[in-house]
Order: sequence, then C-alpha cells, then structure tokens
Amino acid sequence: MGRPPSKVTTMTPTRFLKLATPMEGELRAKTITTLQINVGKKCNQACLHCHVEAGPNRTEMMDERVAAKIISLIETEPNLQVLDITGGAPELSNHFRSFVEAGSKRGIEVIDRCNLTILFESGQEDLAEFLAEHNVRVVASLPCYSEKNVDKQRGLGVFDKSIGGLIKLNQLGYGKDKVLDLVYNPTGPSLPPSQEMLQQDYKAKLKSDFGIVFNSLLTITNVAINRFEHALKRDGQLEDYVSLLESNFNHSTVNGLMCRSMVSIAYDGTVYDCDFNQMLPLDLLAGKRNVLDVDSLSEFANRSIAVADHCLACTAGAGSSCGGAIA
Ligand code: SF4
Ligand code: SF4
Repeated sequence: MGRPPSKVTTMTPTRFLKLATPMEGELRAKTITTLQINVGKKCNQACLHCHVEAGPNRTEMMDERVAAKIISLIETEPNLQVLDITGGAPELSNHFRSFVEAGSKRGIEVIDRCNLTILFESGQEDLAEFLAEHNVRVVASLPCYSEKNVDKQRGLGVFDKSIGGLIKLNQLGYGKDKVLDLVYNPTGPSLPPSQEMLQQDYKAKLKSDFGIVFNSLLTITNVAINRFEHALKRDGQLEDYVSLLESNFNHSTVNGLMCRSMVSIAYDGTVYDCDFNQMLPLDLLAGKRNVLDVDSLSEFANRSIAVADHCLACTAGAGSSCGGAIA
C-alpha cells in the first residue's frame, strides 16, 4: 500500500461549494480514468494569461524517477483511458516521447497539449511526424483566428507560426483521420461564447483563409489564478470577474467536472486534483501525496476534492474543463 495521507485539511465552505454541492458540503471524485501529467514549466512561449507561468527561462522539469513511476502507472492502471500530457511545452521534456510510447502501446488515448509553435523549435523537426505515427490527439491553443488578438495574448509572430503548425499537422492527416482540436479562451474577464457557434466561425474562417481543417473547438474559461489573477487585481476587475462566474453558475456542469475523474501530477511528482489546483498550489484535501508513494490511481477514486472560489470558472455558463464546455 502507498504511504497514508500526511494530514487532513478541513474544507472551508466557499462560494463555489455552497452552489455546487449545497447538500453534501463536499465534491467527490468517481473512478479515475484520466491521468494528467504536467512535465514542467519550460516553454518556448511566455503568454500573458498562462496559469503555469511558464516560459523559456523556467528550469523546473520532471526527473527520471517520477517519469519512471508514471510510466509504470500507464502500463498497469486497469481503469486508465486517457493520458493527458501538459506543461509548459510538454514536448520539451526529455520524457515526453517515452510517455507517448507507453500510452500508445497500452492503447489508451494520448493527448498532447501543444502550443503549435513548438513544432518549429530546434530539435523538434520530427515532432509532428512522431505525434502522427503514435496517433496522438493534438489539442492546440489558438485563442482567436485573428492575428492581432493571438499575437497580443501569446506574443509577436505566434499567429503565423501557429497557422504554419496547423498546416503541417493537416498534411499528416490531422483534422481528418487523426484528431486535432483547438482551444479558445477569452482574452479578458468574460465568459467564452457558445462553443458550437464559435466552432462554426473558426472552421469557416480557417478553411477560407488558410485551407485548415480541425475536429473540435474547445472553449475554456479563464481561471483567476497566477498571471491572470494578478492582471485582474491590477486592473481592479477581480471581484467583478468572480461575481460574473458566480452569477452564471450552472448546476448541470457539476457532474462532469474534470477533477472528478482525474488526477494531475506535477513535475516533482506531487499529486493534485487538477492542473489549476496544482498551479495554486492547493494540496489534496486528504493531505500532500507524491506519485512515488502511490501504488494505484484507485487510491484517489471517491476522494473529497479540494475546492475554492477559482473553481467557479469550471461551473459558469456552459462549464469549462480541459475537454472544453461541459454542459
Ligand atoms: S504556450 Fe501554454 S504553457 Fe507556454 S506560456 Fe503559453 S499558455 Fe503557458
Ligand atoms: S478548478 Fe479543479 S478542483 Fe476546481 S472544479 Fe475545476 S477541475 Fe475541479
């Protein structure tokens, strides 16, 4: 058996909890079917809204021991259906390709949260082919189909490179027989528009302007933590944004919250309820755990999840998760 939890934290009633689970007073996980790993903070970009606060000068990356443990979980976890690899730019990890190979061999869905510009970095010349060969689902950030908005949020020249990356992926069958999804998040403190309507706009615009095809558009609501929270505070908009999320609470999203079927592992092996809790950081409610001390992901099934008011972003409007809208 793994090491028992080191401490038990008491759940404080938050605005989120009062809305999401007024009767139970806690949010509980179900079976763990998704393993999300954040391989580290290094990224070739440094986007304004980045909740990881990733960038080219960050050095925190997953080491060999943690990577080996994760590979053994990928190989043995009976309920595992999805391996979701994120970062930073996940492809910059020395272990990225081993994770992909292990997931692909196991026959589970492997997701690469790809920023597209990484495809043009030195040393990544064969990355697109590698992803295609292992049938990796590419989930790529493209916060707008306008050059001006993308470059404002993600850096000068990012739009052109992203378009180049999408064309390259299309040439390898992505958007056709391999899955290519795009991610949209609002540039400011507002809720995303309808995922279905926006997808239609994206598909029409990217097809007509560049001949690009993709499968689905995933809309994600900005979570008010780290860089985005600092920007809201600086502009005096934080309370208004949290109130907006609260007043748009949608109970039908609660059953599909991503934290209920996943755990998120940090580069140092610490286990969290989700990537946002990891970035805060907000430990597991039952106490801090490291994946090195975990025998099975089933230890996290039915756990009580650590929630706080940042969670209101996941339940506002159509809801939000790593898979886009929930409702
Ligand atoms: S590409 Fe992604 S991980 Fe990298 S800085 Fe931008 S938002 Fe953060
Ligand atoms: S922020 Fe994380 S813990 Fe909170 S509701 Fe969203 S997925 Fe769950």
